[in-house]
Amino acid sequence: MKSLGDITSASPTFDAVIVGAGPSGSSCAYWLARAGWSVCLIEKKDFPRVKTCGDGLTPRSVHQLAQMGLEPVVAANGHRYNGLRAFGFGASLEMNWPEHPVFPNYGYTITRFNLDGLVAQRAAENGAVLLNGVEATGLLEPSESPNGGLRGAAGVVVKEKATGTTAAVRGRYVIVGDGQNSRLGRELGTGRNRSWPMGMALRGYYTSERHDEPWIDSHLDIRDPKGAVVPGYGWIFPLGDGRVNVGVGLLSTGGAWKGVNTTKLQEYFVAQTADAWGLNDETSCGAPTGGRLPMGMAIGPRVGANTMTIGDAAGMVNPFNGEGIAYGYETGRLAAGAVGEALLANDPSLLALYDERLEQAYGDYFKLARAFVRVISEPRILTVCLSAGLRIEPLMRELLAMMANLMRNDQKGPAEVGYRALVRLAEVVPEQAYAMLLGDGKSSG
Ligand SMILES: Cc1cc2nc3c(=O)[nH]c(=O)nc-3n(C[C@H](O)[C@H](O)[C@H](O)COP(=O)(O)OP(=O)(O)OC[C@H]3O[C@@H](n4cnc5c(N)ncnc54)[C@H](O)[C@@H]3O)c2cc1C
Repeated sequence: MKSLGDITSASPTFDAVIVGAGPSGSSCAYWLARAGWSVCLIEKKDFPRVKTCGDGLTPRSVHQLAQMGLEPVVAANGHRYNGLRAFGFGASLEMNWPEHPVFPNYGYTITRFNLDGLVAQRAAENGAVLLNGVEATGLLEPSESPNGGLRGAAGVVVKEKATGTTAAVRGRYVIVGDGQNSRLGRELGTGRNRSWPMGMALRGYYTSERHDEPWIDSHLDIRDPKGAVVPGYGWIFPLGDGRVNVGVGLLSTGGAWKGVNTTKLQEYFVAQTADAWGLNDETSCGAPTGGRLPMGMAIGPRVGANTMTIGDAAGMVNPFNGEGIAYGYETGRLAAGAVGEALLANDPSLLALYDERLEQAYGDYFKLARAFVRVISEPRILTVCLSAGLRIEPLMRELLAMMANLMRNDQKGPAEVGYRALVRLAEVVPEQAYAMLLGDGKSSG
């Protein structure tokens, strides 16, 4: 790892400067560095560092980690599991991850404390200059976008936390993966479509004798002390290291779920699962912490003259299941591809390829997910669907594949057929029509 002094004394202009060494930034740095481009990856924290997360890797994340050569080390530091166990309305169902030609049929849980430094280090091993404990405090020489895209920048201004030293880090391309709050993204000119869904989630760690179970649990009904269902869902992810990650999530879209307090929700959920998992004050490893999940490509624009946003900074969490790690790796990689092509051709306009490929990869899927979220944000509908659906095992298995974005292109199973039908519906029916289906007249995203 290099220090800020090593970099600024030589004052190079990197091919790419990347802000944030979470999943999106580290993957982007890895793929660019591996292709031989000069890359500076800037991370304000020192690894290992805590990041509030459910710590769950689906097969999509495992695939990306394997492609970066990291599966053995993830397997050594994490806990392999087989699939999802869903609970709700008196029913429960164990569902293995589906067989798929590309994605494995298993996932891992691993704390972000242990995971994120591995990926950043992998980028550094492939030649990226990794600056830890260095915060990007602003854009260097920002310029207005000619066509409504992101602002341009000659690099970023940085501050080394330990010494207070400030410096400029120059780059031909600047990629921002600074997470859900994305200060740099907002400086580039991003905004969120507020009528589209946003998730909120909270998690805490507990020690538990059941820490190495081969399932991640998802509870689709959380109950208050009087037994009434409250909006939100809960998870228990065994970490295999003596602890379980226990959390709750909530979608902010939909008036019916407004005003719900995630701290209360977490209390209810812990109370509901306490006996089964041994959750109590003695086994708690500390107060829960939370964060927001910007989803469904709700944040834009994503491309400027020489700038891009990736991961949470671009609103890339999957609205179906709150998963953002895989989409961080994937969007980092897609951005790296477009930057590489722009560098090779010496043509910055090729950055537009990134937006096109995002649309191709996620456009229909996220549109469908946003509509789905609008529908299930209505507790009445959620209750009816779930209490019936959880008893129809094949349907739930198909839904699992769809919600985790693990559908197969080579098979025409019910989920794929249903998915395509829904996509077509989403194309031809104005989005407001989904709200009309609910009979509440509200607009939808
Ligand atoms: C409670 C909760 C549970 C979740 N559970 C899951 C889950 O189980 N599975 C899943 O797939 N997803 C989960 N997510 C979503 C997932 O955490 C995110 O989608 C994912 O971390 C996004 O990766 P990223 O690289 O875009 O951003 P981040 O992971 O947030 O990384 C951004 C990085 O940038 C750094 N940074 C920020 N600003 C600066 C700056 N100015 N200069 C330098 N560095 C900076 C930060 O320190 C951080 O390291 C959860 C989210 C929450 C809140």
